[in-house]
Amino acid sequence: PQPLPSDLDIARAAQLRPLEEVAAGTGLRPDHLEPYGRSVAKISLAAARDLADRPQATYVLVTAITPTPLGEGKTTTAVGLTQGLVARGYRATVALRQPSMGPTFGIKGGAAGGGYSQVVPMETMNLHLTGDFHAVTAAHNLLAAMVDNHLHHGNELGIDPHSVAWRRVLDVNDRALRNVVVGLGARMDGVPRQGGFDITAASEVMVILSLATDLSDLRARLGRIVVAYSFEGEPITAEQLKAAGSMAVILKDALAPNLLQTLEGGPALVHTGPFGNIATGNSSVIADLIGSRMGDYLVTEAGFGSDMGAERFFDVKCRVSGLRPDVAVLVATVRALKAHSGRFTVTPGKPLPPEMLAENPDDVRAGAANLAHHIEILRSFGVSPVVAMNAFPGDHDSEHDVVREIAEAAGARFAISRHVAFGGKGAMPLVEAVEEAAAEPTDFRYAYDLDESLVDKITDVARDVYGATGIDLSPAAKRGLEQFEALGYGEFPVIIAKTHLSISSDPTLLGAPRGWRMPVREVRVAAGAGYVYAIAGDMRTMPGLAKHPAAERIDLDADGNITGLS
Ligand code: ADP
Ligand code: MG
Repeated sequence: PQPLPSDLDIARAAQLRPLEEVAAGTGLRPDHLEPYGRSVAKISLAAARDLADRPQATYVLVTAITPTPLGEGKTTTAVGLTQGLVARGYRATVALRQPSMGPTFGIKGGAAGGGYSQVVPMETMNLHLTGDFHAVTAAHNLLAAMVDNHLHHGNELGIDPHSVAWRRVLDVNDRALRNVVVGLGARMDGVPRQGGFDITAASEVMVILSLATDLSDLRARLGRIVVAYSFEGEPITAEQLKAAGSMAVILKDALAPNLLQTLEGGPALVHTGPFGNIATGNSSVIADLIGSRMGDYLVTEAGFGSDMGAERFFDVKCRVSGLRPDVAVLVATVRALKAHSGRFTVTPGKPLPPEMLAENPDDVRAGAANLAHHIEILRSFGVSPVVAMNAFPGDHDSEHDVVREIAEAAGARFAISRHVAFGGKGAMPLVEAVEEAAAEPTDFRYAYDLDESLVDKITDVARDVYGATGIDLSPAAKRGLEQFEALGYGEFPVIIAKTHLSISSDPTLLGAPRGWRMPVREVRVAAGAGYVYAIAGDMRTMPGLAKHPAAERIDLDADGNITGLS
């Protein structure tokens, strides 16, 4: 086969349609669009109300089997499927997260899709877009400044400086900022204490922005953020520090979703980007509330595998939005299934080992348990799974056949999708499978009820979703959960911060691990976002750069064209 042009070359060659045309027939009126340049607009929040009486779209989640560090093509599949639905005559919208500039200049490169299934303008999407991430950074750091300012001016609330959990954020991969000391210098330079930086995507403010259903919900959630504890052990909130109003002001425009377009001219909503390991890993509720009234189908993507982003999509995001998923597309690749054989090492930034590219259906079969487990996870939520075999240029038919066999043996629909090479028309078999699955009744249910204890909720996810035999709480975690229940956070859903490279909490366990227990080292509360999170593994909230980051290859020519962004 002919090698595809680069993502950037394909994206740049696209003829972009005026956004009024992209939005035509979706119920969005021209006055709902607030243009940011020629090819991006914010959708005014009034649209959520104005479109509320339109019929509900079929809601499709795109998730994946356990990915390699390279990603298995959820974004490309979500875009390709949406393009295919449009080509088939439906009104379909895709809703995605905004990529973070940390990874864009780090290892991953861009995250606007790939090949002929992309969101454009891809440079804008991968860089500042409309500045929402900058707004999150600014709002987050204003609160941090107000915490330190409170300590400096006499600490009226009695904040225990050692308990300050509110760090600072920047949208960059910078390991040197993970641990810092603030307040050094003279008396007028603040109170010295240890602090640190996280990447903006890991900010609780980012999650709040992604979950807020309207401006007053945003304002209220910001006020509930717990930044520290008093010497008596009482939570200190952003409301008590009188910071939440100004934070809401900074974030006012950022709550409006961004409208872009697919390469085939259909609507794409790009909004918020919470981290996939410690946070929800899903795009915004507000974009989905609007998008679900824009036509026949709304397709959205959840981060990492179905154990991670999809579980949080069901148990956290859908609980907040009230929306119910109809179909779940499970992206599988030959390379990810082969990786589960344990015979290969996939290193980001390096080409795949040549033995991995050779035709070997047995290596694919070695990953069968992983695919089957993810199908079971989706089924446990009562949603019909469709396995999307994301075809890569070097794949062999015999290997696709094995994936079909595994999927069908597990009772899932199956389609080979060639949307990266051929755009929407390459996704037709997937479109048909999704149409069929959508016609089936769903019996959506959560993994746990909110009135269970926090320990039971964590155990339900570990056992019923991940396949653990149970959980082991450290003494600190046990105390923490008791404290959260005493403080009134017991009704929150839970998020388990764990590796995405295994269904278990141990990144070295491949396939569908059984007979393991999940250790919970530490628990924290994100009271504004509205969940408790349990830390099961080493979690990085500020990534570092590789020896040769993407930033070394990205450049600008004299005409202002970007090069090296993939
Ligand atoms: P995810 O959203 O699951 O992280 P992406 O859709 O961002 O995955 O894809 C990860 C990377 O793999 C991107 O660089 C993308 O261009 C590439 N990719 C995905 N699918 C294909 C495919 N079918 N053929 C070639 N490259 C692909
Ligand atoms: Mg993605």
